[in-house]
Amino acid sequence: MKPQQITILGSTGSIGGSTLDVIRRHPGRYQVFALCAQRQIDKLFAQCLEFTPRFAVLASAEGAAELALRCRAAGLKTEVLHGAAAQNTVAAAPEVDAVMAAIVGAAGLEPTLAAAQAGKRVLLANKEVLVMAGELFMRAVRQHGATLLPVDSEHNAIFQALPADFSAGLPACGVEKILLTASGGPFRETSLSTLASVTPEQACAHPNWVMGRKISVDSATLMNKGLEVIEAHWLFAAPPAMIEVVVHPQSVIHSAVQYVDGSVLAQLGNPDMRTPIAYALAWPERIAAGVAALDLFKVGRLDFYPPDLARFRCLQLAYDVLRAGGTAPAILNAANEVAVAAFLENRLGFLDIARINESVLQRLPAGPEGSLDDVRAADAEARRVANALIEQRR
Ligand code: NDP
Repeated sequence: MKPQQITILGSTGSIGGSTLDVIRRHPGRYQVFALCAQRQIDKLFAQCLEFTPRFAVLASAEGAAELALRCRAAGLKTEVLHGAAAQNTVAAAPEVDAVMAAIVGAAGLEPTLAAAQAGKRVLLANKEVLVMAGELFMRAVRQHGATLLPVDSEHNAIFQALPADFSAGLPACGVEKILLTASGGPFRETSLSTLASVTPEQACAHPNWVMGRKISVDSATLMNKGLEVIEAHWLFAAPPAMIEVVVHPQSVIHSAVQYVDGSVLAQLGNPDMRTPIAYALAWPERIAAGVAALDLFKVGRLDFYPPDLARFRCLQLAYDVLRAGGTAPAILNAANEVAVAAFLENRLGFLDIARINESVLQRLPAGPEGSLDDVRAADAEARRVANALIEQRR
């Protein structure tokens, strides 16, 4: 069998690194076609040396020039490109079989959409794509015959627990509810008064998962779970009332599906993203991921709690924008990206993230998500308002 050609958008990140680790274990099965990153040149160069991709893409021309020099000096044939258009090109290139969409945030939207429009197998980690432009993206997947495989551990678990023909509609498959599990993050038991003064380092110290800084903060505010509710809505055509968040601190059950006959099908495993990545890469087959077997005796117990929407406002905001529809989720996503970046730079308190998100939503009416331009305009306006609100607080 010819090795499958893979493009990784966001190769220098946490998901990108785990994807390369799975690929490393299956050299005959996968070949890296292109690696894309924003600014981590050293890491991208090391990846080029090991995986010898046809293309490497960096955000800036200066970064690309430096990487090209290093690649040439090392005798690599890798062609180095730069900019957003180059990302789209390597995501949609005819030689490519699958694209791992693992850029963080709104920057991942366009290359992921380009992959869908080229009918690729899209391994979707970048949940912001569905949050910002769920309707547009799902339409592109259908129209261009792309195969969409969720990488987010919860959605990957749900995908595994659903029947193969779930696209016929969840009620027609006997599905009553999706049970979306959440670890509760590092502040599950922290009081509101203490939350006011937690630091970025504390917020990024997730109890179970090792992840990039933005998603770590989102996990701490439960915004991540809110984004995942929206993601589940689009992936599985599930109305908001069918998606229930269940706090499960051990992160062993990665999510479950409740059926009308009383059955609940869940996917369990150690909290290691290589499992859903390997599943998405090899689907419908299964391949080794380098993840240790789950030892249920060691796990011992599994706990479940309802989420506290009063302490974690962002989760409620996500349900609100999902019900509002149109560009409301894109507005929340953009406001949240700005607020999280400000928190990580110590310019904003932890509880202010939800306040900024809510204020931006109150100020900006949602419009229809008709085109990519509508989404881009809503995103830009939300960023502008969020930045202004953060400035005012200083
Ligand atoms: P990281 O912050 O670890 O990595 C982000 C990657 O995106 C890096 O390679 C970064 O490049 C690249 N990047 C950022 N901005 C740009 C840009 N403008 N152009 C090109 N590349 C860019 O994030 P994670 O790996 O944690 O998360 C990636 C996505 O996967 C997110 O959407 C997240 O929500 C989702 N996800 C992550 C999980 C996890 O366990 N980490 C679990 C489930 C979903 P550089 O390093 O050069 O800056």
